[in-house]
Amino acid sequence: MTPLDPRRTIVELKELRALTGDADGAQRVAFTPGWVATRAWLRAKLAALPVEVHTDAAGNLWATLRGAREQALLIGGHMDSVPNGGWLDGCLNVLAGVEILRRINEQYHGRPPVTVRLVDWADEEGARFGKSLFGSSACSGSLNMEEARQLKDKDGLSLPAALAKVGIEFERVKDSGRELKNVSAYLELHIEQGPVLLDLDLPLGAVLGTFGVERHAITFHGQAAHSGSTPMNRRQDAFLAAAKMSSEIYEIARRSGNGVCTIGSCTTKPGIVTSVVEECRITLDQRHLDAPALARMLAEAKAASERFAQEGCVRVSWERLWQIEPRPFNPELIELCAAAITETCGVCHRLPSGPLHDAAETCGAGIPTVMMFVQSLHGISHNKIEDTKEEHLAWCVTAFDQLATKAMAWVAQR
Ligand SMILES: [Zn+2]
Repeated sequence: MTPLDPRRTIVELKELRALTGDADGAQRVAFTPGWVATRAWLRAKLAALPVEVHTDAAGNLWATLRGAREQALLIGGHMDSVPNGGWLDGCLNVLAGVEILRRINEQYHGRPPVTVRLVDWADEEGARFGKSLFGSSACSGSLNMEEARQLKDKDGLSLPAALAKVGIEFERVKDSGRELKNVSAYLELHIEQGPVLLDLDLPLGAVLGTFGVERHAITFHGQAAHSGSTPMNRRQDAFLAAAKMSSEIYEIARRSGNGVCTIGSCTTKPGIVTSVVEECRITLDQRHLDAPALARMLAEAKAASERFAQEGCVRVSWERLWQIEPRPFNPELIELCAAAITETCGVCHRLPSGPLHDAAETCGAGIPTVMMFVQSLHGISHNKIEDTKEEHLAWCVTAFDQLATKAMAWVAQR
């Protein structure tokens, strides 16, 4: 008989919602009083277990159940939310982890064959300072300190100053990296935040990795001219060239297989109703799980922009805004995840993750990593309407627990 109780996880999620949510949704933005209260609530839950609990130099909270071996299985999530967030994003992962710790503790009378740890990453969402994955990127070592030092919230308070208020010394945040020393595998459960599982009518999925991202600004340079006196064949219309990109990116994404492309913003100069557009700046966000395919999508977009510029007698320039490599997860852990899902609900879908998650950081740090997704109703997240059927929530806790069992055996063999 397994002492795992997925219903208890659902009850605790509702308890947390009542404690930290309001009519507009979850209010657990990192480093705010609501987040501090959330952490206190989580610590109270952990106090019932024989685990060692501490926060590291970056403000991540760790709970450790010591095992016969030092090698650790790590389960992760984040208790912080965006403002007016959903009731499941991030905290489902942590609370499922708490339930799994309870089960393992009971089964092994406080001493499992390998060490099992739970981490609540600090400021996954980046809602306040615009930098997501703060705690996990500090821990993995990938955090850009120069960039992070400059970040300010909307009131002008700097990230280092906000961290100091909750007892975190900015210059030391990368000391948190020592926490990963004996971690042999990392597991993260998350709501999908998209409609793929919903459209397939499947409850759970094994995640193949997180997409690589290429983010660029593309500027077309033409000539401003009077909208009445300039014949159509004499125009150097920067907007016309930019607009052609709009349908082209759908073709580029289609040819790439699983990739996605988005033109998220468009600004024109002079931007008045009586002038041909002199300058048009669009942003392009391209994502793919496969690095060569992502590079191909980027090359195709560049070639298309040059073709459209030439056709319209305008010039084009590109500027890279941001980039991250694809992070494919560990193939063996993906198999274990798929098996755990199939055993729980009979069928498993494998899918990449469009959004980044803390798992991208552990993966980047070289730790074998995998994620499990549970279906999102409406395919919507970062919104108070975010939801998942209770039956699916129960299944995901059960399947994630099965994965933990398999991963413990996997860690023990290494
Ligand atoms: Zn999340």
